[in-house]
Amino acid sequence: MRFAPSPTGPLHMGGVRTALYNYLFAKQRGGDFILRIEDTDSNRFVPGAEEYIIEALNWCGIVPDEGVDADGRVVETASDRHPHAPYRQSQRRGIYRKYAEQLIANGYAYYAFDSSEDLEAARAAAEGRGETFTYNQKSRLSLCNSLTLSPEETQRRLKETTNWTIRFKMPENTVVAMDDMIRGHIEVNTDTLDDKVLWKRADELPTYHLANIVDDHLMEITEVIRGEEWLPSLPLHYMLYKAFGWEETRPRFAHLSLLLKPVGNGKLSKRDGDKMGFPVFPLRWVNAEGEASHGYREDGYFPEAFVNMLAMLGWNPGDDRELFSMDELIQAFSMEKVQKAGAKFNPDKAKWFNKEYLRMKSDEELTDLFVPILEADGIKVTGCYKCPVSHDFAASSVSKNYVKGVVALIKERATFVADFWTIAPYLFKAPQEYVEKDVAKFWKEENYTLAYKAAEHMASYEGPWTAEAVGTELEEFIRGNEWPMGKVMNCLRLALSGASSGLGIADILSFIGKEEFLSRMARAGEKLGK
Ligand code: GLU
Repeated sequence: MRFAPSPTGPLHMGGVRTALYNYLFAKQRGGDFILRIEDTDSNRFVPGAEEYIIEALNWCGIVPDEGVDADGRVVETASDRHPHAPYRQSQRRGIYRKYAEQLIANGYAYYAFDSSEDLEAARAAAEGRGETFTYNQKSRLSLCNSLTLSPEETQRRLKETTNWTIRFKMPENTVVAMDDMIRGHIEVNTDTLDDKVLWKRADELPTYHLANIVDDHLMEITEVIRGEEWLPSLPLHYMLYKAFGWEETRPRFAHLSLLLKPVGNGKLSKRDGDKMGFPVFPLRWVNAEGEASHGYREDGYFPEAFVNMLAMLGWNPGDDRELFSMDELIQAFSMEKVQKAGAKFNPDKAKWFNKEYLRMKSDEELTDLFVPILEADGIKVTGCYKCPVSHDFAASSVSKNYVKGVVALIKERATFVADFWTIAPYLFKAPQEYVEKDVAKFWKEENYTLAYKAAEHMASYEGPWTAEAVGTELEEFIRGNEWPMGKVMNCLRLALSGASSGLGIADILSFIGKEEFLSRMARAGEKLGK
């Protein structure tokens, strides 16, 4: 199998899905997965796109067997491991001409000399008659090509001019019968098809159609899974296999339906992502104008979650299982269960997958991912997983095991690792601000006086400092004094976390300890009045 992107920009998530399905199918059958760069259209070349594609596939764990070396570069010279190199079509340019000439020799193609002005004039004339111009069996005999010029004139032009092409000579009124692994049997009459350009003398390069067929043949591709935008090209591709005499080894084809917008109809586009705030690219991309697009990686998605979500966009295992590792996908994937209809992308479902994968990760794994986020926000993380739990709020420093404790506590509430910070920043530093409307509602002098006394009581409490014990002690103390529980608690919570909602007070206290409790009470008193 192969994935054959053109480096014309960042890979859209639909492209990653195509690569993934090829990869899964290949791996399931013990096959190889090749990355081939289809860069014959130099006008559409975008710097950095090739590197982006390789990095994105790598991030997803869709690692090519052939085409990319250990350093993540496209392989240029053949070796045992990469027998079909080079894998960039621009570096294979020498290969294609002879195949195009072979088609001419066998009567399947011809030389066309029409200038762009000629074609423009033919187009305008057709429009004048209310028709659209196509270079095909009807028009070819009134145009400038080796079918209409004398052999001598043809030879002269081939030698003396460079603005000519080789076109496929689409046969007349022939039914092309094709089979698609997803769509079944398809028939198309060649009268509806045109004479596509296969090779251009001007840049000595093949067009997509020729290069694609020749390379799939030379690279021994057995199945092609690609986007449905290539379905209209399939009859030509079938005709090319026939013309080359390669029908026996023609790959089987599967054309995947589009990914659709979350709401409404139509193809999922970058604009939908921008509008609704979800990424459509695997990695962040900055275009030539300096505009950045979101990437799943940078937005905090786990690659496993992204891959799992993508796999389910258009495929299902036939039962209601939803969570699959890459290995499980390789086992379970089947073309029969790939749907014909377009798959509606649901950004909430993408988040759901991430949340599920987050829950499956160990506290230590999550802590390791969270530490750099904390450090970027000025919190020092010290020690190791075997070291004791400690914190020094004055120095904005906590131990690794402290972070792990926080992670264990709030894991269930988080979708992304970065949520650990936004859910409970007050477990790492005293609140810098207090939510105004909560202050207005709960910050009363009499509540503060009682709350402060409760804090003092807790400072002198000598029992075990667990959330459970601390919670019970605090409640019993307030209740025993017949103080208004809700009012005191809300005041405490405001002083501890800066708001009247969030984690339970006992949980917060179990982390930050007595000293910090008193210090936050004092600080809130200073700032909000006592
Ligand atoms: N280069 C084509 C693309 O960019 C490949 C299509 C195919 O797989 O045949 O999608």
